[in-house]
Amino acid sequence: MTVLLATRSAHKAREVARILRDCGGPRIITLEDAGVPWSRAEEGLEPWETFEENAASKARHFARATGLPTVADDSGLEVDALGGRPGVRTKRFAPPGRYPGLARDEANNEWLLESLRRVPEPERGARYICVAAFVEAEAAGAGGSRRSAAGAATEGARCFRGEAPGRILERRRGGGGFGYDPLFLDLALGRTFAELTADEKNARSHRGRAFRAFAFHMARR
Ligand code: IMP
Repeated sequence: MTVLLATRSAHKAREVARILRDCGGPRIITLEDAGVPWSRAEEGLEPWETFEENAASKARHFARATGLPTVADDSGLEVDALGGRPGVRTKRFAPPGRYPGLARDEANNEWLLESLRRVPEPERGARYICVAAFVEAEAAGAGGSRRSAAGAATEGARCFRGEAPGRILERRRGGGGFGYDPLFLDLALGRTFAELTADEKNARSHRGRAFRAFAFHMARR
């Protein structure tokens, strides 16, 4: 079976393709491969308060648009000293206009450092979360229309969650990965995710864990 990977992030697509290739997961095609044009509706696909609901919402949207079985990734960072924030708001963490001229990832990193300015190193615990949501094309119409604490928005989707524990550093280290990786220390290795090779990151990351669980599910169907 070929599965559509519903993300516009080249970083995520590259990681997921490698993770699935290395664990014998299903073949994937990207939105670009499938020729799915960007639409304004995509901006409103993540209104929910859980990663599961947002991932399911994205997967359902693209399964419906293409008729293909679809997997989507919703991911983010939970920081203990910030009460679990930014969580599902990780992508838009930095206040708009706060850092004129900085690209989004850089602005987010600056805001994270600023938010934790007074927090000492041992109290900077955090975790990355990734949820892979899989929607069969025929299930794409179900759910999603109601906002519900019980998670009605995940109806029709199978969700696979991966988490990676770490700590937020006081300054960036490393040039690999993307997003918050230069600030995210893997305590067991003593290196940030930006200092790991692609294979090392995938072996330990939230995305690696979530998508290997997805691949395992697909292999047993
Ligand atoms: P999403 O597109 O709503 O899933 O946004 C994910 C947010 O979390 C973006 O700001 C990403 O940069 C960040 N993020 C997710 N996974 C990673 C990762 O593996 N490394 C660094 N940042 C990540």
